[in-house]
Amino acid sequence: MNTQVISTILQEEAGTTLGANLIRSGELVAFPTETVYGLGANGLDGEAVNRIFEAKGRPNDNPLILHIAKKSDLKKLWAHVPDRALPLIETFWPGPLTLIFQKAEIVPYEVTAGLETVAVRMPSDRTARALIRKADVPIAAPSANRSGKPSPTNAQHVLDDMDDRIPLILDGGDCKYGVESTVLSLVGEPTILRPGAVTKEMLEAVIGPVQLAGSILKPLGDREVAASPGMKYKHYAPDAEVIVVDGTPEETARCVLSLYYDLLEAGKTVEILSTKQTHFRYRGASATEIGDREHPETLCANLFRVLREIGASCDVILAEGIETGEEGLAYMNRLLRAAGFHRINAHAELLKK
Ligand code: AMP
Ligand code: MG
Repeated sequence: MNTQVISTILQEEAGTTLGANLIRSGELVAFPTETVYGLGANGLDGEAVNRIFEAKGRPNDNPLILHIAKKSDLKKLWAHVPDRALPLIETFWPGPLTLIFQKAEIVPYEVTAGLETVAVRMPSDRTARALIRKADVPIAAPSANRSGKPSPTNAQHVLDDMDDRIPLILDGGDCKYGVESTVLSLVGEPTILRPGAVTKEMLEAVIGPVQLAGSILKPLGDREVAASPGMKYKHYAPDAEVIVVDGTPEETARCVLSLYYDLLEAGKTVEILSTKQTHFRYRGASATEIGDREHPETLCANLFRVLREIGASCDVILAEGIETGEEGLAYMNRLLRAAGFHRINAHAELLKK
């Protein structure tokens, strides 16, 4: 199958019309959202949804998010809309917040991976909304990467993973946030299953106390059940090995440099992911500045792109850990998974030297 790429910056009307026709005929279409690129299918057609799992190589017990273009479409997809969902929808939709609640009968189990609950989001991206509106069905869409790889934040990343597997990629340029949506379950106590650009603090300002699922910054224990099935899988892994170094910016940089030269000596090619605050400390080493520690959203915006692009050309990536307040949590959640939780404490490591 030939994969066609259409720029929706140049040809929004033609691109979204063709995309909507493909979705309605049961085919897959990759499209931009403000978080990452999605791989979409008609969310009411179980057979079409199964094609997503095939194209991605996604384990079939990992449920998908349904994307809608009108807030009022939510009531068709949930058994009922609980009161506390209303202020969240008013405040954060359209935007990077996914809400989970009991599903309505119309939602096929292929979407929910057999669960009785379904995740729904209304994206703000212009192309995404035009596509959903024209398709006139909810679009089931996970990130448009091969399962296990970093999520795509531009059309080239999608093409790298999906060439010849899907008929169409809509190219809307770079994604604004660069990490996937915040996933909030409204079944029982409101619980964040996956952190994103809508933070715990932002949600609490609207609905009061919100819990964080236990596995956000650590791997699931042997007997733990995943609240969000996606969390149990290997995720965001680039071709290179990733090591995260935690500590104060100064100690982190000293430890990263020392590891850098040890690895070079062992014959490895190494790249450092530095921050605005530490970049000057890596003079003479190969380092890429990916953003500002004080503004973790700048790190989020670049992480997946850098993991894909730099991860393809070196053996080891040394990345700085950051504080996990606000959007730092979304960043560390993705970075630690990309590293398979390989994490070094700078202070302890420097004492050993
Ligand atoms: P992705 O589409 O790749 O961003 O993954 C969607 C994420 O939402 C995965 O981590 C899923 O496990 C999670 N998710 C989707 N639906 C549900 C659900 N009904 N219950 C719990 N987690 C869900
Ligand atoms: Mg994904």
